[in-house]
Amino acid sequence: MNKIFPSILLSLLFIISYGQNLKSPSEFLGYEIGTQFTRHADIVNYFNHVAENSSMVTYHDYGQTNERRKLTYAIVTSEINHRNIETIRLNNLKQIGLADGSANPEIAIVWLSYNVHGNEASSAEASMQTVYELITQKQAWLENTVVIIDPNLNPDGRDRYVNWYNQVKSTPYNSAQVATEHMEPWPGGRPNHYLFDLNRDWAWATQVETQQRLKIYNQWMPHIHVDFHEQGINEPYYFAPAAEPFHEVITDWQRDFQTQIGKNHARYFDKEGWLFFTRERFDLLYPSYGDTYPTYLGAIGMTYEQAGHGRAGLGIDTDEGYELTLVDRVEHQKTTGLSTVEISSQNAKKLNTEFQKFFKPNLKYKSYALQGEPDKINALAKLLDKHEVQYGFASSGSASGFHFGTNKNGSMNLKNALVVSTNQPKGRMVQALFEPETKLSTPLTYDITAWNLPHAYGLDAIASTSLITANEAQTKTPVLNAMNPNAAGYISKWNSMQDAAFLAELLQEGIKVRFSEKKFGLAGENFERGSLVITKSDNRNVENYDKKVTEIANKHRRKLFIAPTSFSDTGTDFGSPDVKIIHPPKIALLKGRYTSSLSYGALWHFFEQQLHYPVTSVDTDYFKNITLDQFDVLVLPSGYYQGYLDENTLSTIKEWVSKGGTLIAIDNALSTFANKDGFGLKSNETDEAEKETPNLLIPYDQRENESVKNFITGSIFKTKVDASHPLAFGYQDTYFTLKAGNSSYSFLESGYNVAYIEGDAERVSGFAGEKALEGLKNSLVFGEHKMGRGSIIYLVDDVLFRSFWENGKLFFVNSLFFVNNKVVVF
Ligand SMILES: [Zn+2]
Repeated sequence: MNKIFPSILLSLLFIISYGQNLKSPSEFLGYEIGTQFTRHADIVNYFNHVAENSSMVTYHDYGQTNERRKLTYAIVTSEINHRNIETIRLNNLKQIGLADGSANPEIAIVWLSYNVHGNEASSAEASMQTVYELITQKQAWLENTVVIIDPNLNPDGRDRYVNWYNQVKSTPYNSAQVATEHMEPWPGGRPNHYLFDLNRDWAWATQVETQQRLKIYNQWMPHIHVDFHEQGINEPYYFAPAAEPFHEVITDWQRDFQTQIGKNHARYFDKEGWLFFTRERFDLLYPSYGDTYPTYLGAIGMTYEQAGHGRAGLGIDTDEGYELTLVDRVEHQKTTGLSTVEISSQNAKKLNTEFQKFFKPNLKYKSYALQGEPDKINALAKLLDKHEVQYGFASSGSASGFHFGTNKNGSMNLKNALVVSTNQPKGRMVQALFEPETKLSTPLTYDITAWNLPHAYGLDAIASTSLITANEAQTKTPVLNAMNPNAAGYISKWNSMQDAAFLAELLQEGIKVRFSEKKFGLAGENFERGSLVITKSDNRNVENYDKKVTEIANKHRRKLFIAPTSFSDTGTDFGSPDVKIIHPPKIALLKGRYTSSLSYGALWHFFEQQLHYPVTSVDTDYFKNITLDQFDVLVLPSGYYQGYLDENTLSTIKEWVSKGGTLIAIDNALSTFANKDGFGLKSNETDEAEKETPNLLIPYDQRENESVKNFITGSIFKTKVDASHPLAFGYQDTYFTLKAGNSSYSFLESGYNVAYIEGDAERVSGFAGEKALEGLKNSLVFGEHKMGRGSIIYLVDDVLFRSFWENGKLFFVNSLFFVNNKVVVF
């Protein structure tokens, strides 16, 4: 008997048993897929089961969510490919210059991302059915295709939705639209733990889910990326090709292949008699989406939208008269997923050759050079690191080109400037993130139209059409302060979020800190307004005071200046009334169904994860029953309070402010106080003549374009700053603000206009309609209204919007610690 035979027999037996144990999702979960919502942990269990029982699947963790749920992805391809998976991965990177060596691979890499919005819950169910059918029915496609499946990008959001639904659903489910199971409560399952929309976070990477996902994304750099979503219950299905505007960096091939993919889906949908639409609503511009971000990294990035969403439950009656079930939704999502893999497999070679071309861009601007506060440069460098974008530092000389600060051609000194060039594989992404103005084929877009990073990070910058040479980033030397018990005090500058986090920790450690309202000079150094002063005199009772202060400063990499005496060379001495002690404020933050969940979430994340300072969230359900006197500061996120903050509540708030409280109102929260007695805030009236003759005769099909004149779709404006006011400490006399809408308020008459638009609004980047621009003339951006012993801070623009406008954050911090700083006696 042939000796080899037993081993062949053994392996055959092994293969048979390997396959035999493999269960379908329905067999494994114990219910037909689509007849229940599956919890995240069970989705993970199913993928583990598949990986254990198929040689075509491996399954990996890539991290954890804020609520400690697993983030995972599966790699699905033929067994032969799995044996060479590392070579396949590296060859893909080699062909685009992101790994050393060269390669001309012919294997397609398709990445399917499910359930980024937690309550768009059909797609994670579909991910299980998709992997099962790929390995049991579509093995041929896997011979030249690697499919990466992330079954659930937002496990915390999905479980929030699924757990709620399971708690309230009827048995059997109730399809009436008014049934409680179709009325998801605030904040809904869409966002993550901190209520961030993860499909607006790819480029800013503020959230742990995004940060961890980008690492794996960069290891793979797929050719196709699908982001599965759901839309309103009456809109059957949307798939590629996308709508205008398309960003300029998108190639003809990327556009064409979107159409080919869409036509492949249409074959299946037409055959089954399923309706769909393409080329509407979902455009490719804002870089922080799950379709645009991969597109700017060379992939065919797409959004697919099934009817359903948090309303649909297991089944719901649509307005069109049919019942939409989860079973149907899953079937559609599975179909587009499989169809995507099919067409990618058919075009594997072409996908690779076109992918290579994308990474050899020849763009107008060759380099961007940025200058400014080292903390702000470091913050931007950190963001570039997350995207694995290359950068360096110039040593000397100057460069000319488009100058961001003046919004016209100019030049800039290059000494120590951060340089980011487009002659690198990710050059197109660099352009999308840095370019002075993004070209729009139509202003009717789904999102903001300006985001350029120099303004977002508060840096001076030049866009140069010639390449600027730069050296590799220097390794940072640690900041090592030595304690000096003989010093009268320590002084630290005030410019950045790092300074703010340093202050927050000092206050929590019981260190008494002052800030100077005036400039001063001491021991040969000049200190700006807002500089922190930590004196021996204030901290006599703090044990190990010198050691504590220096340790905290070293931890935050803050340089401490030693003051041998408190007698200043110029300006104020430490004992002056202009060097004020900071009383650690007790802060309340309103949340609940009248607040914007996004605005509340951004604030919550800011306090916990960026500033690291305690905040007490108070729900609108019982806010009216608490005594405000236990707090020094009340923050109202953007929201819809008109019906909620009634006359009684407003007078309670007024009384509390008058006694010394600080109220901070953000974005749409201002509309609650506008034009009301005592709050000092007036809406800027638009042209009265315009109101008298509304455009009643504009034809039906032109109304949408006409309405655009009133739009501001996230654009950047230059504003003037009163840098002598504590709200603006750390800023110069100019600030670039991101306006997300067209709200406009007059200058405050009682108090201080700290950032404002004087005369005509100076739009720097992004779209603003002519009427909206007109409305911004002479308008408030940030200001302080005095009321008795207290203050109301109005922040017309939300400086924490998606947490990416880094340079606006210090205004908010100043409003917490510096403005209205006094001992509050209630
Ligand atoms: Zn969505």
